[in-house]
Amino acid sequence: MPHRERSDPETHNALRGEIKEQLTSLFEALPFSIPIYLFTQNGKNDGLNRAARETLRSFKNLSKKLELKEFNLSHELAREWKVDRSPTILFDPERYSIRYVGVPYGEEGRTLLGAILIIGFRSGNLTEQSSRVLNKIDSPREIKVFVSPTCPYCPEQALVALKAVVENPQLLSLQIIDIQCNPDLAEQYSAFSVPQTYANEVLIAQGALPEELFMLSLLKMEQQTVFIPDSDAEEVVADVVIVGGGPAGLVAGIYTVRSGLRTAVIERGPLGGQVAITPVVENYPGFTRVPGKTLVDITVSHALEYVQIFQGEEVVEIIPGKPIRLITNRRRFLAKAVILATGASYRRLDVPGEARLTGRGVSYCATCDGPLFKGRRVLVVGGGNSALTEALHLFNIGVSVTIVHRRDRFRAQEHLTRTVVANEIPVLWNSEVKEIRGKERVSEVVLYNNETGKTSTIQTDGVFIAVGYTPTVDLAEKTGIELTADGFIKRDSHHRTNIAGIYSAGDVEGGYKQIITAMGQGAEAAISVFEDLMHPYWKEQKEG
Ligand SMILES: Cc1cc2nc3c(=O)[nH]c(=O)nc-3n(C[C@H](O)[C@H](O)[C@H](O)COP(=O)(O)OP(=O)(O)OC[C@H]3O[C@@H](n4cnc5c(N)ncnc54)[C@H](O)[C@@H]3O)c2cc1C
Repeated sequence: MPHRERSDPETHNALRGEIKEQLTSLFEALPFSIPIYLFTQNGKNDGLNRAARETLRSFKNLSKKLELKEFNLSHELAREWKVDRSPTILFDPERYSIRYVGVPYGEEGRTLLGAILIIGFRSGNLTEQSSRVLNKIDSPREIKVFVSPTCPYCPEQALVALKAVVENPQLLSLQIIDIQCNPDLAEQYSAFSVPQTYANEVLIAQGALPEELFMLSLLKMEQQTVFIPDSDAEEVVADVVIVGGGPAGLVAGIYTVRSGLRTAVIERGPLGGQVAITPVVENYPGFTRVPGKTLVDITVSHALEYVQIFQGEEVVEIIPGKPIRLITNRRRFLAKAVILATGASYRRLDVPGEARLTGRGVSYCATCDGPLFKGRRVLVVGGGNSALTEALHLFNIGVSVTIVHRRDRFRAQEHLTRTVVANEIPVLWNSEVKEIRGKERVSEVVLYNNETGKTSTIQTDGVFIAVGYTPTVDLAEKTGIELTADGFIKRDSHHRTNIAGIYSAGDVEGGYKQIITAMGQGAEAAISVFEDLMHPYWKEQKEG
């Protein structure tokens, strides 16, 4: 049997005395006093008022640094500071707008203690990254954190919010709301699981967020799941710089770092590239059905274990040489090798209804969304290789397909045309889509016949738009990288471009344009880079 400390009242009191001493010396060492105002009203939550009073008085008795003042709700100060709930605690109200609505007992005792220390130092002691994000907030935020005395995670969230307010009292205010004392507010905000945080009445966090993520959520006014550290460096030296933070770029980054190469990924927009705008992905192994955003978060979190990501930064120039120089809108990078993973985007028709119904019957990818339309009618718009491939793919999986083409013949490879004809897939020639209609989902399409000049409507469950891709090759072109006849980056089987040290990966190379293929190409390019840096092929070419 393990030895157990006797827990008689004497031991307990001695321990409490010890804690009291520690708290007293902690409070005495605080550089600033902490005015605390307690507002209560007799007859309104008497039990809770008593608990709040006892808790605060026991703290106050520990040090003169705590200046407790008690008021009735009818006091003019309550009106001045708009206090209308009993009990409510204001912390240093001349300096900060921080209030605790309820009783800070149970787990919430930690919030009270943390609040005293933070306010007593008048410093949130934020990390450099958190401060950077917080400094970007330029308009007021009224923060509400819902907590409960039985929630062990709540103090963490309440105190992170409190730190933010202490660091920026001009723009930020905080109410910590105890849901057990204020069930009506919990009901109003549906705060049935705590901690839950609102800013200006917008839900910005569910659960306790790490400091940096909390600041980012407060800045962006929506819950953030990934925090990318910001950097001030004017010049970054790396072995490999990857342009593009889509699937190809992120996976390339994981592979290069795992080969021991210092790597930076630069992404000008949201991380995840096209996946970030994909509502649901159903063909990514390991996940039967996963929202694109979730897949991005998982991949970015994995990549962040290895690689430094520079988000919101655009590479505007690449100057080949040794090292290769990359100029972004914020700094310059020097690298031994560069992987261009700049992606591509589907061309759109730009007709009414297309944007609104994308993901609701309008699709740009039969491989991705085709199975959802099994046994239903769809239109495939386009007459080139990709349109015919998409049409055949859909036909093969049991979708009822009609092709809509604005010309009187296809512009596709002969074998594709032959297969479409052999399978008797109907074609509406000389037809242009003018509008896509539907309330919640696509229901019909307005077509214009450019030969007869007539307009008609056709009922359909889906519209697959396959009018081509636009590869993002402006930077590659400017750098002098050769392109294929279709406008994609031309590369060899090692993903090397015509410029030594510059590689490509993903949709920007053409090919199948899938998440998994882009990732595979990212991995291949990264392995090539590693092998080439170990045995530079450009040297051999010169020597040979
Ligand atoms: C609506 C939609 C649904 C899809 N659904 C599926 C699906 O279900 N399954 C599937 O497998 N595939 C799907 N795809 C295709 C898949 O998303 C792409 O094949 C994949 O994202 C390609 O990855 P990538 O990294 O090559 O390029 P991208 O995802 O395009 O990423 C390239 C990134 O490079 C960045 N970039 C470009 N130039 C610069 C620069 N100069 N500086 C810094 N950054 C730059 C871009 O901002 C972009 O984020 C879908 C695509 C779309 C649009």
